[in-house]
Amino acid sequence: MTYIVGLTGGIGSGKSTIAELFAQHNVPIIDADIVARQVVAKGSPLLNQIAKHFGSQILTENGELNRSALRKLVFQSESEKNWLNNLLHPAIRVEMQRQLTEHQAPYVLWVVPLLIENRLTKECDRVLVVDVSPDIQLERATKRDNSQHEIIKNIMAAQVDRATRLSYADDIIENNLPLAENLASLTKQVNELHQRYLTLAQTK
Ligand code: ATP
Repeated sequence: MTYIVGLTGGIGSGKSTIAELFAQHNVPIIDADIVARQVVAKGSPLLNQIAKHFGSQILTENGELNRSALRKLVFQSESEKNWLNNLLHPAIRVEMQRQLTEHQAPYVLWVVPLLIENRLTKECDRVLVVDVSPDIQLERATKRDNSQHEIIKNIMAAQVDRATRLSYADDIIENNLPLAENLASLTKQVNELHQRYLTLAQTK
């Protein structure tokens, strides 16, 4: 069994930024957000099923998923939302499992925003948390998504709080400083963690 390092953190904490540093060591990255998009890629059986259920209004002109159209439809109906979740969640799980086990590398990095909320820590050998203060999280996520503070605040409120998240951590990377000042330190921390994970993976 591949050794699995779960990487989590709140919205805008810097998971993708940290994952990129691990990728430089050729660590395979399995990103839950990317898998969630892959399973409904253009022409996929799942997208066809969704289009059959909701009609072609949920497709863009070139046959891709029109996310905002789908969001509007399921927002209006709890039962449609459940139908969609019951279709998507098992498929995402299966695909994630497939990707987690397809690699020959000593360990894989599993990037999951809701790792704790969805009780997936038990499927990890090690949990790495990217930690930032809520103020910085709000500022970075708002800027990146070109979003409103209220929307980001609501997402943050739906995620576990900082102390709870940290209580699940085997390792923590703190990402409060601006990148220009922080990159060297982040790179060093990732290099050290990479060595530690290689050792741990060997002794699993
Ligand atoms: P999400 O779960 O919301 O997708 P994430 O945890 O993957 O977010 P990133 O996308 O890596 O977070 O970072 C959020 C934003 O903050 C990005 O625009 C990123 O470039 C920026 N960012 C990350 N780390 C820093 C930092 N130390 N200083 C300044 N900006 C940063």
